[in-house]
Amino acid sequence: MIDFLLLGNGAMLPLPDRWLSSLLVRCEGELTLFDCGEGTQIPCRRFGWGFRRLGAIVLSHCHADHVAGLPGLLHSIANAGRTEPLAVYGPEQTASVVAGLRVIAPLLPYEVVVHELVGGDRFALPGGLQAAALTAEHRVTCLVYRVGLARARRFDPDRARALAIPLELWRTLQRGEPVSWPGGSASPDDVLGSDRPGVSFGFATDTRPLATMPPFFDRVDLLICEGTYGDAADLPKAIQNKHMTFAEAATLARDSRARALWLTHFSPALEDPAAFLNEATTIFPETVLGYSGLTGTLKFGNSDL
Ligand SMILES: [Zn+2]
Ligand SMILES: [Zn+2]
Repeated sequence: MIDFLLLGNGAMLPLPDRWLSSLLVRCEGELTLFDCGEGTQIPCRRFGWGFRRLGAIVLSHCHADHVAGLPGLLHSIANAGRTEPLAVYGPEQTASVVAGLRVIAPLLPYEVVVHELVGGDRFALPGGLQAAALTAEHRVTCLVYRVGLARARRFDPDRARALAIPLELWRTLQRGEPVSWPGGSASPDDVLGSDRPGVSFGFATDTRPLATMPPFFDRVDLLICEGTYGDAADLPKAIQNKHMTFAEAATLARDSRARALWLTHFSPALEDPAAFLNEATTIFPETVLGYSGLTGTLKFGNSDL
């Protein structure tokens, strides 16, 4: 199961009712934050998912509206009592940007470990999530991410009993490892059913839509995607500033065969995103406008978005 809490849905600068684009993800009680614009810690505190279990921060790119909230957030995590290391993932320059921001947050009770990624990299996130990065197209180096949670194969206890496999070895087989005992041996295939689909989501901001994206996001359960401009007439601006319109985000969701789309990263000039929602829903009906406090859950075989 993966829980989502959209903390902020804004681009460029925070507005009184619109925090900058950031997303909190919870899996097995562990938290991962995607992007950390100025003030991210405030909606984080408001919605009460806590700071201590925040084990990783994934940055799309190093524009201020995606990273400037880091120093304050790092202090909030410290105040919550975290002592375990915190991983920060992002594209090239992430290490120098984090080091620069940490000039004003030098003393922390935990280690901050920065991992710079390139498109094609795969990495693990807290709670058993598996992530992959793809090169985006923005004015600086930017990555979009696909994150999945695998589902274990079904364990057949009747078969395990019939094979006289000692009970204490069942868990090892469930993990996919072979076992042996004085009376015999067994492999996972002896007691596990066929593969079962997991759940997955995509996080895409800030970028133009690329031909490489639909295969990368193929059949994600949820695509969280920037829609900086609502009006399709702003396409020239989207092209110039390396962003997307609502229609482009919806087309990406449709072409990716996503199950649902959350739009986020609205331009400050886009005062009423709802006025342009139909630009997206005519292309991809399962579109939701992001707002601070939007939540959803992906469950195996039964999701609630
Ligand atoms: Zn941005
Ligand atoms: Zn940007």
